[in-house]
Amino acid sequence: MAFPVAIPGVYDYEIPDKFIDRITPGQPVLVEVKRSRIWGVAVEIKAESAVAGKIKLKEIIDIKEGHWADSNRSLLKLYEWIARYYQCPVGRVFRPVAGKAVINKKAKTVTVYRCIDTDGARPVLKDNQRAALEKIRGCPEPLSAALLGTRFGIAASILASLCKKGYLSKEMKTVFRDADELSYSSADDGKVTLSPGQLDCVERVAASLSAPDKPFLLYGVTGSGKTHVYTELAKRVLSAGRGVIILVPEISLTPQTISRFRAAIGDAVTVIHSRMSDGERRDSLQEIVAGRRRAVVGVRSALLCPMDDVGLIVVDEEHDGSYKQSDTDPRYNARDAAAMRGRLQGAAVVLGSATPSLESYYNALTGKYNLLTLNDRFGTARLPAVKIVDMTVEHKEKNWTALSRYLASRLDEELSLRRQAILLLNRRGFSTSLLCKECGYSHTCPNCSVNLRYHKADTVLKCHLCGHEEAALASCPKCGGLKIKYKGTGIQKAEEMIKERFPSARILRMDQDTTRRKGSHAAILDTFANGGADILLGTQMVAKGLNFPNVTLVGVLHADTGLHFPDFRASERTFQLLTQVAGRAGRAELTGEVVIQTYCPGAPAVRFAAEHDYLSFYEHEIKHRKELSYPPFGKMARVIAEGPDEAAAAGFLKKAAKMVININGADTGMIKILGPTVAVLARVDNVYRYSMILKSNSPVPLGDALLEIRKLAAAELPTGCKCVVDVDPQNML
Ligand code: ADP
Ligand code: ZN
Repeated sequence: MAFPVAIPGVYDYEIPDKFIDRITPGQPVLVEVKRSRIWGVAVEIKAESAVAGKIKLKEIIDIKEGHWADSNRSLLKLYEWIARYYQCPVGRVFRPVAGKAVINKKAKTVTVYRCIDTDGARPVLKDNQRAALEKIRGCPEPLSAALLGTRFGIAASILASLCKKGYLSKEMKTVFRDADELSYSSADDGKVTLSPGQLDCVERVAASLSAPDKPFLLYGVTGSGKTHVYTELAKRVLSAGRGVIILVPEISLTPQTISRFRAAIGDAVTVIHSRMSDGERRDSLQEIVAGRRRAVVGVRSALLCPMDDVGLIVVDEEHDGSYKQSDTDPRYNARDAAAMRGRLQGAAVVLGSATPSLESYYNALTGKYNLLTLNDRFGTARLPAVKIVDMTVEHKEKNWTALSRYLASRLDEELSLRRQAILLLNRRGFSTSLLCKECGYSHTCPNCSVNLRYHKADTVLKCHLCGHEEAALASCPKCGGLKIKYKGTGIQKAEEMIKERFPSARILRMDQDTTRRKGSHAAILDTFANGGADILLGTQMVAKGLNFPNVTLVGVLHADTGLHFPDFRASERTFQLLTQVAGRAGRAELTGEVVIQTYCPGAPAVRFAAEHDYLSFYEHEIKHRKELSYPPFGKMARVIAEGPDEAAAAGFLKKAAKMVININGADTGMIKILGPTVAVLARVDNVYRYSMILKSNSPVPLGDALLEIRKLAAAELPTGCKCVVDVDPQNML
């Protein structure tokens, strides 16, 4: 009686006699759904099905035994909690571990060659064959033709004749598809002595390991050495034989972080990230499931991995929005789900950040979390001095470029001293909008309600939402005028300008467009770490987690990029980004300086980031949240209706809102409704979007209302329309 992945609901299946004693909850099972075969996960074994008399149940076709079943079983409760809390069918939650790519993939095998030793007479060998045989005999384990070729230059034809003459035998060997990031090298050798502050954090968490009660929030300024706290804890937990899960925000962070954990913990570590092939993912999960590797470092989906007896879960940079899955069900936040997994599996949970989310810090202050603090950078490293440059003044004094005179002169100095700089501009593409100077026409995406971005290298206009591409404009489509202005500075324009201004500097650009290929992140970071470039220019990708001792100058070209977003977290996000990027400067003996260019020097997010003053920012921001009852005060969910028919989408949401009011009684009820209104991204790829926000002081009525909305959607959603329920939303667009 199982339930298939990716289909809503739970269904009953007949257990054939041959499986009857072998099937357990959590076990992957193969069943037939609508005439196709699909792997699902058994969630409950019933003696008798309630529907058995009424319809003929189909039989389970196959099952996967062993570790998969054991490990999944311990996770069923977590998966069910996620499904309930985030309002999605429980099958969706299994996708990372039971998706068909993972289940169907086979182990990878290669042919390896082994020497046959006998005393019997064998054909004579030529010199080159004998030499090759000696090499092969010297290997501690049998190698593949490819490895023998690259290592010893042994040709395939020689291997073939050695086999034929009876000197070598072939056998199949299973290999582990290692994600390439694991090979990234790091300067850290893993042997460190913890500072008293670090040790104190470790001891406090360690003391709770046998019976963890609530999560720890580790608030430690950038460079305070949080990573060493994590690795020390991980070592202790591993040596006690328990498992460790370490979450990192996103792909750009993984190479350096993984190599640091590798250096410290060793081969117990495997990885899970979004750019792995299905084969690599399968192998990684298999290593975890089988208990061969007891530590995983990965992005959010690693939280769902089938690992037994987890003793420690670390969520590094816990404030990061990428822990929340916003684009598809389950729309879970891995940080919050980590707290739940910790509770269910008896694991200590450590959330770490230099800029904790307001929610987490509030939880720490109100006693829901334990607070650990690291106030100082490790060793002699000091937090860098920050200079704010008011760009309106630059413009008044006729500097119209995106580079202030101060930052330009500082770059000159640092480059002449052969030091490195990081520049941040959080805008992809070349320009942000396209304007005809003659008639004022502004060119937008034909499918979406946004501007197209010019990508100069391929001379195309791209839509960053739907992927629409068109040739760059030679003339205005409206008036035929030739004066097309590319307004706003994107990172490509900035790169061009910096190359012109500093012709001898070697510049690396890191953004979504330069990191499409697998391994390109690691390659860029590697080059920069090895001194292969002077300036690393990037989007928010460069802000987080990176550790380059030779970087003494960090410049933020346009600090206000996200400040005016229609999102209640706009200010918090800007503060976090600025603080994180400022933390990249002067992390070793060299002192650092940070230059923040802004049009809003007085904005709290800018001012407090410049003063490295998290607490004041928190005090300032939490007041606003309270006034408007935004999180952490009360619960919030977002409901989006979208479809090609604008009126239908809008109509459905209105009806849903009315229903909620009927249940609750207008604004006096337990639930406050904002909207429904047209979403900020009103149209994406010809889909119209409407949204409303539900707020409540208590999660229970909110969950009930959302359940009703989902039922309404199941019954009455107009065809072509989609209704998305997003609990604790991070994306407000
Ligand atoms: P955070 O993650 O808090 O920003 P890191 O863990 O990256 O800080 O540490 C910052 C720098 O200080 C790194 O280069 C790290 O190797 C060094 N460091 C931190 N703690 C120690 C220690 N106990 N011994 C030696 N080096 C340390
Ligand atoms: Zn578009």
